[in-house]
Amino acid sequence: MPICTALILAAGRGSRFGGLLPKQYALLGAQPVLGRTLAALRAAPGIDRIQVVIAAGDEARYRTAAADFDLPPPILGGPSRQLSVLNGLEALATEAPDLVAIHDAARPFVRAADIAACLKAVAASGVDGAVLGIPLADTLKRVTRGATISETVPRDNLWRAQTPQIFRFASLLRAHRDAAALGASETTALTDDAAVAERAGLKVVMVAGSGDNTKITTTEDLQRVSTMETRTAFGFDVHGFAPGNAVMLGGVSIPHNHALGGHSDADVGLHALTDAILGTIGAGDIGFHFPPSDPQWRGVSSDRFLKHALGLLAERGGRVIHLDLTLICEAPRIGPHREAMVDSIARIAGIGRDRVSVKATTTEGLGFTGRREGIAAQAVATVEVPRS
Ligand code: MG
Repeated sequence: MPICTALILAAGRGSRFGGLLPKQYALLGAQPVLGRTLAALRAAPGIDRIQVVIAAGDEARYRTAAADFDLPPPILGGPSRQLSVLNGLEALATEAPDLVAIHDAARPFVRAADIAACLKAVAASGVDGAVLGIPLADTLKRVTRGATISETVPRDNLWRAQTPQIFRFASLLRAHRDAAALGASETTALTDDAAVAERAGLKVVMVAGSGDNTKITTTEDLQRVSTMETRTAFGFDVHGFAPGNAVMLGGVSIPHNHALGGHSDADVGLHALTDAILGTIGAGDIGFHFPPSDPQWRGVSSDRFLKHALGLLAERGGRVIHLDLTLICEAPRIGPHREAMVDSIARIAGIGRDRVSVKATTTEGLGFTGRREGIAAQAVATVEVPRS
């Protein structure tokens, strides 16, 4: 049996991926996308070794994603996909496997049977490479500026190329070394390794794969392929009145005959929302992340705390579905500022106004809020997170 090394490309920065992390490190369920991909490749018969190419700066993320796999140290990628592959191939040149299977880290659903079919195809005499793909099902349109359709392009014989793309190692290394010498204008068309091989005159065959072997390119892709669950959590906060002439509520400054005292700008509404978000992912509370005793938080704008909590949620692949805030006080009157607070919270959370609710109530003169000693806030956050 020929020795085949899988070269996993995880060096992309994912500019089309809206999250805070490159897509290969985002969580798919409880595991980073890259971890799922590594598990799929490790389980595939015919793949003997795995080598990952990562971007400089992603070493810590890589260690987390690859913790369960006993792999050689990652290779650092180059400024383009093509040069990242070349770096990986050069690193394998001393061990020189018979075959190399180039695979996108963002394709975690590749099936062992399809990899086997690809390996079988490349073993045929006279074949230098085999690529997984699927015949094009959609109608293709050429569209001019102004969105006018100028042409329907015949789709006969057109396929969408996926990965893995498996090649005879020595042939692909030679083809990539040649391509690296080309000018930028000539290399823009070389969008996959098959294109590099074709240019070098190698014979590459197409192997019918599966539509499940999708590439996770956008946050929406990740959400579509994840099995999401809905979670709800509660937040509560109180701040007492202090001398001043305005209170911050929901990120909006409201004129009043007092200010609110305490932690940061004392925005009791944003604090309750922050705790509610943290609650959905079991990430402690606002005091844990931003200790009130720490002078660096004195007077700071509380949108920072809410954004931090939202960032933690996003890192887990989650998103906010709905935020509901109730402010409890006798004064100031909330009604005239309600719409501004909805706008402010929607803007901070990066969600539509229709996903934000701000309500207010008094306690009929009873208790500390009734005695006008301070303001209380209750928040409920509803989010969607990948099922763990
Ligand atoms: Mg507070």
